[in-house]
Amino acid sequence: MIIRFPLLSGNDDYNLPGKGGGCIVCNTSFRSGFAYLSAGATYDHLESRIDDKELGAFFHVGYHGSHSDMSDSGGVEVVKDLKGGQFDLQFCSTSCLRQFLSSLVDEVEKSIGQNKEVASEKEKEAP
Ligand SMILES: [Zn+2]
Repeated sequence: MIIRFPLLSGNDDYNLPGKGGGCIVCNTSFRSGFAYLSAGATYDHLESRIDDKELGAFFHVGYHGSHSDMSDSGGVEVVKDLKGGQFDLQFCSTSCLRQFLSSLVDEVEKSIGQNKEVASEKEKEAP
């Protein structure tokens, strides 16, 4: 499974894989159903509603460490400022959904500490 993040951004269609596409993980077509991860933003005020097009959906998974410079933290932007404010990621089975979520956590773990060089450069610059 090779997935490049963010999966969706900007003016992409909110639905992944979209019509005719296969499972995000194994590319199997959806024959008898699918598992999904659906999320987004809503805005509803008593006196005014805004156009959905003004909403930007995001989905960020990460780890926040204890260092103030975030050198022991990391994260993955799965969906970044997707116009329309919502998205659906679809999988052929709960097994593929589980594999996707587990791989996502793997990506978060890989990203932790990637700011170490930045942190050590800041330490050198400090008086
Ligand atoms: Zn699948």
